[in-house]
Parts: sequence; C-alpha cells; structure tokens
Amino acid sequence: MTDAGEQPPSLSTEEDVTGANNEIGAELPSLSLFDGVVGQDKAIAMLRASARNPVHAYLLMGQPGNYQKELWRGFAAALLCPDGGCGHCEWCSRCLRGTHPDLTEMESTGAALSVEEAHQLVRIAQRTPLIAKRQVLVVPDISESYLAAPVLLKTLEEPPGKTIFLLTASTIPQEMVTVASRCLKIELVTNRSAHTPVTPVDNVGSSIAGTSQGAEGDTQIVMNIWASVSNRLATTGSTITSLVDEMLLAVDSALDEIKERQDREIKGFDRRASDMGMPNPTMRKQLVERHHRELRKERVAYIRSGLLALSREYENQLARLNGVNVDTGMSTHATQSAIRSAIQSIETIHETSTQLVRNPNEKLLLQALLIKLADI
Ligand SMILES: [Zn+2]
Repeated sequence: MTDAGEQPPSLSTEEDVTGANNEIGAELPSLSLFDGVVGQDKAIAMLRASARNPVHAYLLMGQPGNYQKELWRGFAAALLCPDGGCGHCEWCSRCLRGTHPDLTEMESTGAALSVEEAHQLVRIAQRTPLIAKRQVLVVPDISESYLAAPVLLKTLEEPPGKTIFLLTASTIPQEMVTVASRCLKIELVTNRSAHTPVTPVDNVGSSIAGTSQGAEGDTQIVMNIWASVSNRLATTGSTITSLVDEMLLAVDSALDEIKERQDREIKGFDRRASDMGMPNPTMRKQLVERHHRELRKERVAYIRSGLLALSREYENQLARLNGVNVDTGMSTHATQSAIRSAIQSIETIHETSTQLVRNPNEKLLLQALLIKLADI
C-alpha cells in the first residue's frame, strides 16, 4: 500500500488552491470522499485542489454543524490514501471513519485547548507517520484557545515536515489572529444560505430591512477593488492617496442604496408629520440617529470585507510560498523572506481591521496601511 513503487499522487507541479480547475480528473481526490456534505462546494473544491500540493496548515472557518468533521475526514483521506484519495480503499474508509493510524483528531476536554493539550499536540506532531507518507492532525475549534495559542503558534511556525494540521474555528478573536494567519483559510458556508457566499455584510446587514437586494454584488465589487490594491501597490505608479480614494469611493457607491432608502424614510416621516400637523422633533432626531448608526455599521462591514479581500491576496501568496516548501523540505533564503513579508502584511491588515472601530478616520487609517504594505 505504501510501496516505494507507488506514484505519490499529490506531488504535482501545478498549483491550484483556488479550486478553479476542479473538473473531475484522475489526479484529483475522489468526490465521493465528501459524500453527504451539502452546500460546501467551494470548500470541497479548494480542499480537493489543494490535496495535490498541500500547505502545512489549514483552517476550516465556520459555525459548528457545517460538516466540519466530514470535510476534514474526506480531506485526510485525500492526503493519506496511497492513491491520493481513491474513495474506496481501506485507508480511505478508515479516514472517513476517523480510525486511520495517521489521522489524529484532538478532543479537547474543556471548552478550549489547554496548554497541556497543546504540548501533547506538539509531541504528536513530531512523530513519524506510521503508515502513510504524512500524518494529519486535527484540532477542532481553536476559537477560544488563547492560552494554548503561543504553543500552537510555535508549532505552526516551525512545522514538523510530515505533519499537516487541520484546525477549525467558528470565530477568530484578536488573540488568535496570528495563529490563523499561519494557515490556509477555507471558509465554510453556513447552512441558512448554503448556496451563496457569506460575507461580513451578510451577517451585519441581516437585521436591516430592505437592504439585502444587491448587497452581495456590491460587496463583491468592493472586495475586487480592494484586492487589486496589493498588486497595484507593487507594480503601478498609482499613488497611495489615489488608491485610498478609489477604495473609499467603492464603499460610498455601495452605500448609495441604503442612503436613498434612508432619505425616503425621512421624507415620508416629514410628510406624515406635516399632514397631521404634528411635528415630532424628538422622534425625528431618533430616526436620524438610527440611520446614522446603521450607515456606520454598514460602512464598517464593507470596509472589513475589503480588508478581508486584501488580506486574502497575501494569504494566497503565503499558500503558494508554503506550497513551494512542503514535501520538498527546501526553503531558500528568498522564499523565507517572502513568507515573512506575506505574514507581516496579513498581520498589518488585521490590525487595521481592529482599529477601524476605535478610529473612524478611515482615510488616514488606510493611507497608513498602504504605506506600511508598500514598505514590507
Ligand atoms: Zn484510497
């Protein structure tokens, strides 16, 4: 089963972690490994595409109950099966049942991974695989594992050669951002909207009536423009000021629909007050304030989506750079330094995202961000 004569199926020179080339082909892991998983087509495509040339750590991001276990077991089969995830051998079925000797699924005794459990994880990570050419270590929900974060981080920064980590998380609080930045993120779709991508705006805006139409398309436009900045910073003569103006203009345009609706609400209020001959300045003031808060919330959500898209650009760079290293174990000085730059860029973007609430001067904040990104 693991004879030297076997062709290692995952060592392809082609890189594709985006899932763009996810036609069913002989080289991709069998789709049957993910039988029964509903509504996670994008995650499955990414995992299958990535199995050929895996990075050393993955983070499955999503609320519990969205097939996390099925996804990590299917992916483990793709990584551990000698035929690259054929879907019908003993090793595939052991992975799917969670009984493959090189698949370790950590179970935390408490709500979060303890420091002792993290150390145990490190010891397992150092182990030589028993049967397969690598081992898979699953760490469920790291969202609140603050105490274990430093130990976890150290392992992820100096990954043992033959271990691939699959972490899961429902949220990434500030304390876990650095850990998350070491992983290739795979975002899971929550069940309630299994066929559309979940964006921060989708979450924030769900309670606001009448704004959902077109919000998804607007988010996509903002995200595309913001994502393009990483390339343009490096290659074009665009100035930082003009890039920031363009980024904020995209957000303003996305907010137009909400502003128009708010305008209609105010006009309607005034008309009713005048019809009844009963002006109500207190209620009017409350309405204006509510609109103001709503607009601010939506604005921050759009900016967050933009920052997320920008961060993904660097995460993809990081994944490509890590892909160069995994399996060959080689790392040139240049690759190492590019990896450090990508990580630093991701951290800088996350910092900006958290500063956003406290510092409403978006323009200055974004200019400072782009200056830093250009310098890294
Ligand atoms: Zn198999």
